[in-house]
Amino acid sequence: MPVVIKVGSNVATDEQGGLRDSVLESIVAQAAELHKSGTDVVLVTSGAISRGIQLLGLGGRPTAMAELQASSAVGQGQIYRHYDHLFASHDVKTAQILLTAADFSARASYVNAKQTLRKLLDWHVVPVINENDTTATDEITFGDNDFLAAQVSILLKARRLVLATDIDSLYTSDPNIDSSATPVHRVNDFAELDGLSIGDSATAIGSGGMRSKVVAAEIATAGGIEVVVCSGKKEGAVGRAAAGDEGEGTHFTPHKQPQSSFKLWIRYAKEARGSLAVDDGAARALRDQGTSLLPVGIAEVSGEFTSGDAVGIYAVGDERQPIGKGIVNYSADELRRIKGLKSDAVQELMPHATDEAVHRDNLVMTD
Ligand code: GLU
Repeated sequence: MPVVIKVGSNVATDEQGGLRDSVLESIVAQAAELHKSGTDVVLVTSGAISRGIQLLGLGGRPTAMAELQASSAVGQGQIYRHYDHLFASHDVKTAQILLTAADFSARASYVNAKQTLRKLLDWHVVPVINENDTTATDEITFGDNDFLAAQVSILLKARRLVLATDIDSLYTSDPNIDSSATPVHRVNDFAELDGLSIGDSATAIGSGGMRSKVVAAEIATAGGIEVVVCSGKKEGAVGRAAAGDEGEGTHFTPHKQPQSSFKLWIRYAKEARGSLAVDDGAARALRDQGTSLLPVGIAEVSGEFTSGDAVGIYAVGDERQPIGKGIVNYSADELRRIKGLKSDAVQELMPHATDEAVHRDNLVMTD
């Protein structure tokens, strides 16, 4: 089971976009040691935009999406080359992988990405992953690769995800603005964080912040993966965190009964194309009895989707908080025709129709 190490923009590069040579040298040395001791290592790194900004002499982070994407294209090659060179000095081979949320969303590319990464690990190659910023915008706008790292961890059933950042742990409030903030060593349940004002201020060079780390930790722990947030700049911290040292950073306890990777894929990777509002009876049956969703329980259909797409599921009248997400067997137009109808009436309209609008096997409850 591999360990995924995610290096944030502000760890890989300084405020001007210069590579932090000694920090990267140290992180790679720790990763290479782990790799040599028999633990597969996957590196997810940001910093392409930041590096590109300096190489292009832009003088600061642009706001226009095309400029961020183009900066990334300029910086990515150099970032990757640098990692490759550092790993080579430890006799470790690397591979550059660029992924987007869309790659995770389509089942076939998801499976292909998994097979490629697995093969690289079989060959003892360290994958060095970044988001493909040219076509994607997700991690540029929010996340700084935190979600990408969580998705990769689930994809590979990682033993641990280490989010290396510029602060040594999660604090009870943002230590940049509150001097009474104290470190949090372990989070067993995300409800423990309710009421804490976790810093979500992104730095000048990246788009992350503690909030996106907590969300990434929620995603990965749901898949049974332990997550550690630690300093990427403190000597030896990444290696200790990766090895499970309790004294390093903030540890997020993995769920004891993780959801299957297919359900996690539906929940976190597959983009919802619309939503279904279900009546009280259906909401209760979905929640308490683990049933499939039948057309009769659907009150409203929103958005445009076809069968095989994912949709959010809401209790009617409470559209703020989805209760589930699933893959539909019908298009939005078909569901608009058959919503509220019992199965025999549906059969009359569509003789070859399946009973379920969303089958239980393709449904994940989220509340
Ligand atoms: N993929 C981006 C990068 O490597 C993420 C960082 C950001 O949002 O600035 O630069």
